[in-house]
Amino acid sequence: MLVMKFGGTSVGSSERIKALVKLVVSEQNKIVVLSAMAGTTNSLVEICNSLYNKETEKANQQINSLEEKYFQEIQKLYTTNENRERGKELIKSHFDYLRSFTQDMFTLFEERAVLAQGELISTAMFHFYLKEININSILLPALNFMRIDENDEPDYISIKENLNKELEKYPNQKLFITQGYICRNAFGEIDNLKRGGSDYTASIIGGVLKAKEIQIWTDIDGMHNNDPRIVEGTKPIAKLSFDEAAELAYFGAKILHPQSVFPAQQNHVPVRLKNTMQPEAEGTIISDHSDGTGIKAIAAKDDITAIKIKSGRMLLAYGFLRKVFEVFEIYKTSIDMITTSEVAVSLTIDNNKNIAEITQELEKFGQVEIDENLTIICIVGDLVAESKGLALTIFDALKNIPVRMISYGGSTHNISVLIKTENKKEALNALHKKLF
Ligand code: ASP
Ligand code: MG
Repeated sequence: MLVMKFGGTSVGSSERIKALVKLVVSEQNKIVVLSAMAGTTNSLVEICNSLYNKETEKANQQINSLEEKYFQEIQKLYTTNENRERGKELIKSHFDYLRSFTQDMFTLFEERAVLAQGELISTAMFHFYLKEININSILLPALNFMRIDENDEPDYISIKENLNKELEKYPNQKLFITQGYICRNAFGEIDNLKRGGSDYTASIIGGVLKAKEIQIWTDIDGMHNNDPRIVEGTKPIAKLSFDEAAELAYFGAKILHPQSVFPAQQNHVPVRLKNTMQPEAEGTIISDHSDGTGIKAIAAKDDITAIKIKSGRMLLAYGFLRKVFEVFEIYKTSIDMITTSEVAVSLTIDNNKNIAEITQELEKFGQVEIDENLTIICIVGDLVAESKGLALTIFDALKNIPVRMISYGGSTHNISVLIKTENKKEALNALHKKLF
């Protein structure tokens, strides 16, 4: 079994949807995971906001204008009038459902049902298109097998069991289509795997089925060795290990959802990043094996806040760090980087939601300083053998840029430095020149 996931831009228009056919039709058994059409989930989020605010008229306008966009795609996607009519009915049924929410109470429960419509529509459109051109496929409802538990973690046992049950219904089928992102939670309600979660869906499915490969198809030719929007002359990386890919995804490489590496890694299923616009390009293969030692890539993660807690009296006492970490645990805020000295500890977070409460709690332990608008630059590779002189090269590249924190040795795959976001462009370019 092969798992192929196509992101929002790969299903972003009727032309793009048609272009998928030659990629998914072959002798190989496969499950095709689709995102919502590009922009749809954002529009659905806006609709939810209007519904929360009881702005019924605004919500209706947003719903109608999104529906109109789909009607136009339907006209271009299907060829016979009969199928266009049926396609239109299909779209209308989803949007009538959305309109039903303008009358009632709107809570998190309804919000998740609204957000699920994007993937439900894109998969239904594609499935119906394959039918029009006489290609046999089965639409597998993700809500019948994709599940998360009370901690919002995938419930692998139930996913495996239910997915296999679904697949066993169609022993002679080669091509299955399903929704990314959406799932049911521990209460059986519609839920989702958080924004960008379609990659995660693909990896979970590939993992539980021990697929031959998980392919993530996007609009760029693999993971690049630096941010192509900021640095010129970046190149796709041919091979990465799971650990390297996880660091890169977490620290800013937008191409892959950070959590999505783990189910594949645990089951030793390789993940291939491919470009729908350029299907012949090799892309990036992520597997148990890395491509030798040395630095593979540089990534940057913005919107970082640094917190410094200064306390000469407490820091040396054991149990101090535990108390500090507990504060972050209570506010469900994860820590990215950490450095300590004799009198202070500095750490970074990427979620500012509870910063006021966190600061107040931390002030019990010492003097607290907050620094915002920072960026973590992360240098990733297999750094064991070539670590000699590496720090020198990195800091030589950054010699004109004030560095706020450094983290080295936490893993053998990553060196991170914290700088002001205003210096990011200069830092990425300087590192690129020195390292590649
Ligand atoms: N449609 C969802 C989103 O935009 C999930 C995904 O595309 O991965 O976040
Ligand atoms: Mg994505």
